[in-house]
Amino acid sequence: MTMPGDPLTVLRETALALGAERAEIISVKEIKTDRSFLALCEANSCGNYGGCYMCPPSIGSIDRLIGQLRRYEKALVYQTVSPLADSFDFEGMKAAGDRHNELGQRLWDAADRLGVTALHLGAGGCRLCSVCGMRTGRPCRRPERAMPSLEVYGVDVTALSAAAGMRYVNGPDTVTYFGAVLL
Ligand code: SF4
Repeated sequence: MTMPGDPLTVLRETALALGAERAEIISVKEIKTDRSFLALCEANSCGNYGGCYMCPPSIGSIDRLIGQLRRYEKALVYQTVSPLADSFDFEGMKAAGDRHNELGQRLWDAADRLGVTALHLGAGGCRLCSVCGMRTGRPCRRPERAMPSLEVYGVDVTALSAAAGMRYVNGPDTVTYFGAVLL
């Protein structure tokens, strides 16, 4: 149970004020994980496998990541919904991803102000830098703010949206991204 004024409730209000479509608090026990999501990363349809410090294989074993996630108790799940010109609007998808990441980083600022240490998970690979340092042989530029994706931690995002009472898709010509803050 969460109370007004507790950190997750404050972060929920902050997420909504920052433009999240929905934000809900659930128990981490309700989050379904599956190590088979690693195979999707290894298929590299997003192009980030081996090209981002927050993606496999560099982020490490999915079993260790799922174990880390299970140490948390509550999660704030949030979603952003952004318009697209059409289903081939790749620029619009990138802009939506950047917007989602920006909201996630502002939420991280808010968590820092509250003095809470949280696990922050986003959508896709870490989008903090335009080109990940891994691709240029440089160290991570901002390891304290690098954000891995929900999928990298084995989270079934379709099941997560249902657990949080949210729609996974929100109509034609829109793109929906999910993020979570675990305390
Ligand atoms: S902060 Fe930059 S260098 Fe570090 S993982 Fe994210 S994109 Fe890569």
